[in-house]
Amino acid sequence: MSDLWTSEEIAQAIGGVASAPFAVSGVAFDSREVTGGDLFVAMKGETTDGHRFIDKAFGQGAAGAIVSEPVSQPHILVPDSAAALEALGRASRARMQGKVVGVTGSVGKTGTKEALFHALDRICPDQVHRSVKSYNNHVGVPLSLSRMPRASAFGVFEMGMNHAGELAQLTRQVRPHVAIVTAIAPAHIEFFGTEEKIAEAKAEIFEGLEPDGTAVIPYDSPHVATLYAKAEQHAARILTFGFDEEADVRARDMVPAANGGTLVTATLPSAELCFTVSAPGEHWVSNALAVLAAVEASGGDLAAAGLALAELPGLPGRGERRMIAVAGGEALLIDESYNANPLSMAATLKQLGKEDASRRIAVLGGMRELGDRSYELHAGLAGSLAAGKVDYAILVGDEMTPLADTLEGQRLAFAHVPDTAAATNLIQTEMRAGDAILVKGSNGIGLSRLVAALGEHK
Ligand code: ATP
Ligand code: MG
Repeated sequence: MSDLWTSEEIAQAIGGVASAPFAVSGVAFDSREVTGGDLFVAMKGETTDGHRFIDKAFGQGAAGAIVSEPVSQPHILVPDSAAALEALGRASRARMQGKVVGVTGSVGKTGTKEALFHALDRICPDQVHRSVKSYNNHVGVPLSLSRMPRASAFGVFEMGMNHAGELAQLTRQVRPHVAIVTAIAPAHIEFFGTEEKIAEAKAEIFEGLEPDGTAVIPYDSPHVATLYAKAEQHAARILTFGFDEEADVRARDMVPAANGGTLVTATLPSAELCFTVSAPGEHWVSNALAVLAAVEASGGDLAAAGLALAELPGLPGRGERRMIAVAGGEALLIDESYNANPLSMAATLKQLGKEDASRRIAVLGGMRELGDRSYELHAGLAGSLAAGKVDYAILVGDEMTPLADTLEGQRLAFAHVPDTAAATNLIQTEMRAGDAILVKGSNGIGLSRLVAALGEHK
């Protein structure tokens, strides 16, 4: 199946002439990701130049390339391949007749994007396109757009940013019918200074809404007013979601579900719905409410979406749970090693406190990109540890010094170790049957290595 793009369509979209006719079934700019039939976009980055990998890309089966230097393989030559990819993304969006949803927020973008994909896929099987991984920036968004099959019924795109103005650009490419803001938290605050500024930057997503578009915003956020004010300028409809009874899409009742998740009774503008969210934790209920709001906004089958939420596959590093063998039995490992900021720490520690376990252990690494609020926000995790009824904390790395200082002299037992290797040794001797072990930190801390080691541990 190579009907994603023909060379003529690409040439028309980006301006240029194909050196030879070709047709492609996929798009990639990272030569390691190229598979048979792909269009390879050779881009010049700060440290690498994609043109160096042309032969590799074609060796792996690329069918054509976008280049800014002449090559011998079938290609279209342009002055700037990054701009060409953006143009291709815009052309992809322009030819698509279905509904498009954009997802942004400080936390929960990927989780919400994936959950929404599964919900929509239940409604329109095999006709939903989504961005992969966290491809959410000025390259990832056009790439994800350009990969969208022309006949898609839905497209779901994750959109992120580090700086004001970025989302304004991305949303004009995505042109969503529904724009979701999941939550506002002090992630990347070093670039913004205040959470309020983060909220303003996230609200830029509404600028690209289609004329009949819907804004989906978190009612319980302290920044709801900022989001709402911006949404009012651009959205035909606004749907708030949350736990407050004023929210348009609200969870009225929540009880633990048999599958470890949460059984939710929710009220939506058009329905009352009872559904299970398979991923444990209130933060996942919040993401699920955002998903249902988006389904409501696009006129999809809410009951089908609700069924999909009961069967969400685990996301590695973002709450995936598994039982691991330890001396004398098993322990529960909760893998949150991919990402951490104060809001997600609070959310996952709160859930740890609800786990049925003989001991609750938190292995915590630092939260990155908090700028000059880093000390205060790390120290502040003491409150979340208490809420999580943590019995023993292993704090990893220098960034955890403020928290170690705060916990000194308090009742909570903890150890402060220099790095992931030391934490791995410690948890391996420490863990016992019946423990629930939460592992969480920013990706750069490398706690995924600890998770991998525990998987191998017998
Ligand atoms: P990135 O900016 O790295 O792409 P993201 O916004 O895509 O991050 P996810 O990967 O979906 O975020 O989730 C990261 C972590 O945030 C999860 O592992 C979980 O701990 C937490 N989380 C997810 N959803 C929420 C939420 N609604 N509120 C608070 N914490 C959340
Ligand atoms: Mg993400």
